[in-house]
Amino acid sequence: MLSYDQARKIILENITTTGIEQTDLVDSVGRLLVEDVVASWDMPLWDNSAMDGYAVRAVDCSKIPRNLNVTGYIPAGGKADDIEVKAGCAVKIMTGAPIPAGADAVVPVEETDETSGEQVSIQARVVERQHIRFKAEDVRAGQTVIHAGTIIRPPEVSMLASLGRSTVPVFVRPVVAVLSTGDELIEVGRTPGAGEIINSNTLALAAAVREAGAIPRIIGIARDNLESHREKLLEGLKADMLITSAGVSAGDRDLVRVVLEELGVKQIFWKVGIKPGKPTAFGVKDGKPVFSLPGNPVSSLITFEEFVRPALLRMMGHQHVFRPTFSAILRDNIKNRESDRTSLLRIRLEREGEFYYASSSGKQQTGLLKTMVNSAAIAVIPPGRGYLAAGEEVDVHFFGSYIDLI
Ligand code: AMP
Ligand code: MG
Repeated sequence: MLSYDQARKIILENITTTGIEQTDLVDSVGRLLVEDVVASWDMPLWDNSAMDGYAVRAVDCSKIPRNLNVTGYIPAGGKADDIEVKAGCAVKIMTGAPIPAGADAVVPVEETDETSGEQVSIQARVVERQHIRFKAEDVRAGQTVIHAGTIIRPPEVSMLASLGRSTVPVFVRPVVAVLSTGDELIEVGRTPGAGEIINSNTLALAAAVREAGAIPRIIGIARDNLESHREKLLEGLKADMLITSAGVSAGDRDLVRVVLEELGVKQIFWKVGIKPGKPTAFGVKDGKPVFSLPGNPVSSLITFEEFVRPALLRMMGHQHVFRPTFSAILRDNIKNRESDRTSLLRIRLEREGEFYYASSSGKQQTGLLKTMVNSAAIAVIPPGRGYLAAGEEVDVHFFGSYIDLI
């Protein structure tokens, strides 16, 4: 049986990136930039005022207070072309407006006394160049300002827009078919009768796909017979990636692998040395990845986290495909049935001072969904560790939204 690390490695070896598209800036957030961005122009484009105030000649203000004649006004968006600050004069200027000829400093309005419309009294010391944002001070034309491989965040969007770029090249979001299998499943909205289970996996996995930045396509439910599996799996294989849940163990109704093979999907592995999630299967068809995840809602989400999400990010070009991993100190003893598999425990995470602390989020049986809801991280416990003592350090994969500080 493959180890947890081997499985993660083999999956990534079988992943190729999607094509490249131009996308608008808002849709680019969280995606990987494909090309270097070279500044098309200087930023700022011209010297401009960093404050609302008065453009002056610093030498005129060597003694304060000093009265200057106000000879002009430049609002934001105004032009300075025909305006010059002559000796003994000042021009009223707003933040962002171009610095007029002759001026070499801006005095903030708070440091002046506007005695009348024609005169202003400078109240504070003035240093040459103060409160001016100089041309190309931030970015010089021709300079590489964002490197290929950067994950675009709002600051990158701001830079791109400021440089006049309205679209950006990124990898296409893969379309991911999500299919559940099982005769017991009903869709959400109905109250389950005897023996019926709500198909929560489809929605949870589709949400996980969306969260990873890809596009979920819900295929529905394949019933536990060959025909239904054939029809639904065939439909699922039209997407860029297919994820199935359940029907992948060794039960006599577990048909997913049988039919995938029939449809030409080459199985790369089946069964991984992890707990939960052992029956996970991974295959490819014409380079298209196919993940068959276990049916238990907890197992399907954990295997998505550990195997599918990194694959999706890699398809979209990401190099860093794993969740942030750090070391956390166990708060309590954890009885973990000794196993030759890696245990993926659902845990809570807190930070106290410099240290992260992990505590079990509840009973670890895979049927128990609440412990998944209450967890912010997965602790990765190597094989052979039966009993973990409080105070031990464990590796954790953080997938929560925040860490409580206590
Ligand atoms: P199986 O792998 O088909 O034996 O399913 C394992 C367990 O997961 C069973 O208890 C199923 O009822 C449950 N299960 C399977 N598919 C889903 C699903 N789509 N949503 C919620 N639970 C499921
Ligand atoms: Mg089943």
